Amino acid sequence: MTYSALSHLECPRCGARHDADLVQGTCPCGSPLLARYDPGQVAVSPRDIAGRPPDLWRYHELLPVRTPGRVVSLGEGMTPLIALPRLGRALGVPNLLMKDEGLIPTGTFKARGAAVGVSRAGELGVSAVAMPTNGNAGAAWSVYAARAGLRSLVVMPAAAPAITRAECAAAGAELYLVDGLIGDAGKLVAAAVARRRGYQDTSTLREPYRIEGKKTMGLEVAEQLGWTLPDVIFYPTGGGTGLIGMWKVFDELERIGWIDGNRPRMVAVQSTGCAPIVRAFDQGREFAEPWQNAQTMASGLRVPAALGDFLILRAIRESNGFALAIPDEVILEARAEVGKDEGLLLSPEGAATYAAYRQALAEGRVGKTDRVVLFNCGNGLKYPMPDTDLRIDRHKPVDYARL
Ligand SMILES: *Cc1c(COP(=O)(O)O)cnc(C)c1O
Repeated sequence: MTYSALSHLECPRCGARHDADLVQGTCPCGSPLLARYDPGQVAVSPRDIAGRPPDLWRYHELLPVRTPGRVVSLGEGMTPLIALPRLGRALGVPNLLMKDEGLIPTGTFKARGAAVGVSRAGELGVSAVAMPTNGNAGAAWSVYAARAGLRSLVVMPAAAPAITRAECAAAGAELYLVDGLIGDAGKLVAAAVARRRGYQDTSTLREPYRIEGKKTMGLEVAEQLGWTLPDVIFYPTGGGTGLIGMWKVFDELERIGWIDGNRPRMVAVQSTGCAPIVRAFDQGREFAEPWQNAQTMASGLRVPAALGDFLILRAIRESNGFALAIPDEVILEARAEVGKDEGLLLSPEGAATYAAYRQALAEGRVGKTDRVVLFNCGNGLKYPMPDTDLRIDRHKPVDYARL
């Protein structure tokens, strides 16, 4: 029995093949590399999968780690896919679902990419991981590196959320703050990795396996829907790893015969303060121009230039999807609405998918009976919240008429 059906790495831009059992970064042509699997080596059925433990490693044949003993896990995956009945009734839509990634180690879906990326890095002999981050990826990779016994070097914009800095520190990461954006942090990481032995640059899509972890969101949605796919997926898009990964795994699933050819339309959601993918999609471009003066409180969406831009745009177009940018005020208002009506405390990035869905529905870009999956990428508890407390001074007369 083969634990992993991984066969090789392939460049989606120039088509070159690379050895998957060596530490690899990007293709010499500059593109990210994608892991490829041999469908003939996948000797399980959905029925076998159903009997496995409820974490993302239940799909190990379609993941890159070759030896079970190299799996580094904190129980990540199998997050709930839950209905939004009250919001659905108000909008007149019966099939609205939310994949809640807030319920995962480190509180964001970055844990998926980190679990698989760190496991594979350790298996290939890497001794330390290094990356720039807007916060959540650094937190997740530091935590999984600690679990694996690897060191971690993290460089963040000084404006990254304080909680994510604390998470890195708690996991023993070597953490630097830089006055700039994630691209500035990336240059420092590249310089450090070039000088240090045993360090791998694990920036988004600069190594091939983070995306393999993120694609498990697509596997779970398929399994949770009885090995069918929704009509539309709304995905909060920064570097786009999850969107690219899900689109990739739908293909892998069809090749092994677990799903048919029906595919969801993929919708990339960004903030109007940083929307390079939305602009490139609307202009019909193959690549996205970097976004100037990126600004949004949805830090996961603050990615002015994505290495996988052409892969995101390709997936949106192949799926007959689209891209939408939402202003920060609307994101916050959507977050409050979902909290009050469904009891879900979303991250701002997750709330953006609900706001985008509402807009797309109003504009007729999605149908009322479409089965739709929104992604809440992180736990709302990781973000600052407005102070709305009503206070009572018990040392003064209490106005019981108001209480
Ligand atoms: C990283 C991140 C995103 C963007 O995810 P990608 O798959 O890289 O596009 C969105 N929201 C949150 C909270 C994130 O941490």
